[in-house]
Amino acid sequence: MPAGDEIGSPKPSGGPAGTLLLVPWFRRVRHDLAVDLGTANTVVYRRGDGVVIFEPSVVAIDEQSGEIHAVGEAASRMIGRTPANIRATRPLRHGVVTDFEATEQMLRHFLQAARVGRFASPRVVLCVPSGITDVERRAVEEAAVSAGARAASLIEEPMAGAIGAGLPVAEASGTMVVDIGGGTSEVAIIALGGMVVSQSLRVGGYDLDDALIRHIRDEHRLLVGQQRAEEVKLEIGSAWPLGDETQVRIAGRDLTSGLLRRVAVGTAEVRAALDRPLTQIIESVKSALEQAPPELAADISRTGLVVFGGGALLRGIDERLRQETDLPVVVAESPLTCVALGAGQSLEEWEALRRTRSDRTLSRPTRRGGLARSDGGRRLR
Ligand code: ADP
Ligand code: MG
Repeated sequence: MPAGDEIGSPKPSGGPAGTLLLVPWFRRVRHDLAVDLGTANTVVYRRGDGVVIFEPSVVAIDEQSGEIHAVGEAASRMIGRTPANIRATRPLRHGVVTDFEATEQMLRHFLQAARVGRFASPRVVLCVPSGITDVERRAVEEAAVSAGARAASLIEEPMAGAIGAGLPVAEASGTMVVDIGGGTSEVAIIALGGMVVSQSLRVGGYDLDDALIRHIRDEHRLLVGQQRAEEVKLEIGSAWPLGDETQVRIAGRDLTSGLLRRVAVGTAEVRAALDRPLTQIIESVKSALEQAPPELAADISRTGLVVFGGGALLRGIDERLRQETDLPVVVAESPLTCVALGAGQSLEEWEALRRTRSDRTLSRPTRRGGLARSDGGRRLR
């Protein structure tokens, strides 16, 4: 084949085997990653493979040497149990990077664990809450790049989650999503590939745990740990009466005597304890609905809202939302991973858009987050 022919006709793959070498780099199979860096859990999606990592966003650092002792599941087991020189922390608070160095180390660990090939430097799409500031966005992007990503782009979590939940985000008809994570809750109304209304509330699952801790402290004069409070929430927590009232025993330290003591708490009591932060989340849903343009409000009254994030697993959350908003409510099929799945799908889009534009700058990280944020996040399909 004459050289001029090869250059002049950039045929897509499917030509003779000899042209394979001429397939541009961006058409080869890549192992780019989508990372949902949550306050509670980090989920990594690898192109072609699906979700490859699901671990708590926790890092254990040796305070003396500054070295990472453990990350993820292993580090999470150390929370509250570490020896003096080791600190196990969650480097994100309310979805935002509060400990830059620990976040970078954690990302580095997960990117290394997820990448294919020792020298691969993947492009990474990161999910971020819709409410974060430009400074916070930059911190996340920079953490990804210094953790080994070749380029980093951002996608807003509600949009990624809506795509991951299989909602028709590009259609004119409005859809509504509620993402209840560990430290944030996000509500968004999406139409024509963009977020028409978005609300980000710095209240999430951890605030439910805190509310339970406060309740037991005030009502039973007992101090219980964060982890035990979360366990109780998972065991018997609910947002609506479900007719299966039970009790659990919680051990803690007596506030007066300092001795170990147990109390029995029932489903209704736990539900009442969780009510305040839950009400805040529901108020945020109502306020987003109030801001919806009438046409979209009409669509949503028909299509209802989809809930995801770990908080969507709280028993009765769908019924509570149904009662309070008068809308049909559905819990997404994979509430803990649908944000990463949707961001993963946006990786495919990154490629498609790049092909049509042949714009080299798109693969470089930009101040505003590059393609996935400015286009891929908002105008998918
Ligand atoms: P993030 O995106 O912030 O990392 P996730 O979407 O992973 O958060 O959700 C984590 C939160 O979901 C935690 O607060 C956890 O306690 C809560 N959660 C997980 N499973 C359940 C459940 N079955 N019932 C109630 N809350 C749950
Ligand atoms: Mg999340």
